Amino acid sequence: MPFDYAPAPESRAIVDIKASYGLFIGGEFTDATDGTPFKTISPSSEEVLAEVSEAGPSDVDRAVKAARRAYTGVWGRLAPAERGKYLYRIARIVQERARELAVLESLDNGKPIRESRDVDVPTAAAHFFYYAGWADKLDYAGLGPAPRPLGVAGQIIPWNFPLLMLSWKIAPALAAGNTVVLKPAETTPLTALLFAEICQQADLPPGVVNIVTGAGETGRALVEHPDVDKVAFTGSTEVGRAIARAIAGTPKKATLELGGKAANIVFDDAPIDQAVEGIVNGIFFNQGHVCCAGSRLLVQENVYDEVLDSLRRRLGTLRLGDPLDKNTDIGAINSAAQLARIRELSDVGESEGAQRWSPPCELPEHGFWFPPTLFTGAGQSSRIAQEEIFGPVLTVLTFRTPEEAVAKANNTPYGLSAGVWTEKGSRILWMAGRLRAGVVWANTFNRFDPTSPFGGYKESGFGREGGRQGLAAYLTRGGPGA
Ligand code: NDP
Repeated sequence: MPFDYAPAPESRAIVDIKASYGLFIGGEFTDATDGTPFKTISPSSEEVLAEVSEAGPSDVDRAVKAARRAYTGVWGRLAPAERGKYLYRIARIVQERARELAVLESLDNGKPIRESRDVDVPTAAAHFFYYAGWADKLDYAGLGPAPRPLGVAGQIIPWNFPLLMLSWKIAPALAAGNTVVLKPAETTPLTALLFAEICQQADLPPGVVNIVTGAGETGRALVEHPDVDKVAFTGSTEVGRAIARAIAGTPKKATLELGGKAANIVFDDAPIDQAVEGIVNGIFFNQGHVCCAGSRLLVQENVYDEVLDSLRRRLGTLRLGDPLDKNTDIGAINSAAQLARIRELSDVGESEGAQRWSPPCELPEHGFWFPPTLFTGAGQSSRIAQEEIFGPVLTVLTFRTPEEAVAKANNTPYGLSAGVWTEKGSRILWMAGRLRAGVVWANTFNRFDPTSPFGGYKESGFGREGGRQGLAAYLTRGGPGA
């Protein structure tokens, strides 16, 4: 007999959302001089949360100048161990204000509080702790003695993990001695602005971190600013390409973390119940708004019925609704535009002949929602098997042999991640050596750790974030004469 869950909403009283926010430049909140303010809404209710400034080119210029002053001034002169202390302080404040950050993230992004509370915020703090430890050990980063920072980093992040992507960008940049100007996504600026307050609380020297809010044009102004030494971007392959074009022929360094269409591969000897949990986590975590989401399920043909029956049963138990309810598994789609894209690609899936299935699922009246969805019977070349949908939509395909699994998994323009489910260690190693993916998970999925490098092949971009490799992306070789 099914039982109902009583509502368990997290209180939003802990967060003080201001009516309007300025830009964070040179350690202070300041008005934008040339942009039109925009509103950020809660995607689960469409309620306006705050008005946010749009940074125009002259604001971006002010932010880059503030970052340059800090780089050549106080931050550049600071002993590395002292830089590390600031990062530890930020990490501790992120922990102390974890609940506030989690509630704000769920309000602005639409993700379930269970995920912002248990994944996004703790992992963000872990990145600051991890890179804090590196600040005075850069000689051991594998770049020779006394490697040098690059200078001012322009960093552009997407809306799917706003605070976590900020920490992936800011923590290694600062540990390596750079200063930064960061642009959060237009639909999710609020945790970056709260992070700006955290920088003030930590007494971080003015100009070391600058936050400029705005849309694509603000990002473009930052990328094209002549005094930016390094561009770090996470987002769509299309914008990544535009950035690569814009900086070609300049001395700017770049790391581009782009899209993905990961294969989650289930062999017949895998523990099926465990694999089904991994499939659900792989594609329905964060509503599928995950660049490394396991959006293509490859099941060995002889266990197809068993896996699909079990998966359908499990999807029937997922709870969709209020992101602030602690029982919620699936929150809101981040924006009307993203919802339109998910609907369009799902319709294409049906028109190309695939069968669509969702569990019975009541969608709230307001806000942007999409039910967990499976497509079976899709062709290898169909758009739902090739393109990043970036939503809670799983395309199921089959294979017979390990060779076929590898061929199908690699049949995509992307190469960010993959998952393998099997009892055999030798098969895991055999597969991992052949899969063209930056990350291969074995008997798990969507695991993130600051010590582990993350990044892709092919159209998933280049460069690595996390670990020692992520630090190297913000350093240049030192040594004699450097
Ligand atoms: P974008 O790539 O447009 O957004 C990523 C970031 O880049 C945002 O901060 C965005 O600003 C900014 N930006 C946009 N245009 C430019 C530009 N010309 N120069 C510099 N910065 C720019 O992704 P979208 O939000 O438009 O999402 C579109 C699709 O991209 C999704 O449907 C999904 O498939 C994919 N995507 C993939 C992500 C990943 O991690 N792999 C993350 C996000 C999206 P703003 O948000 O204000 O427009």
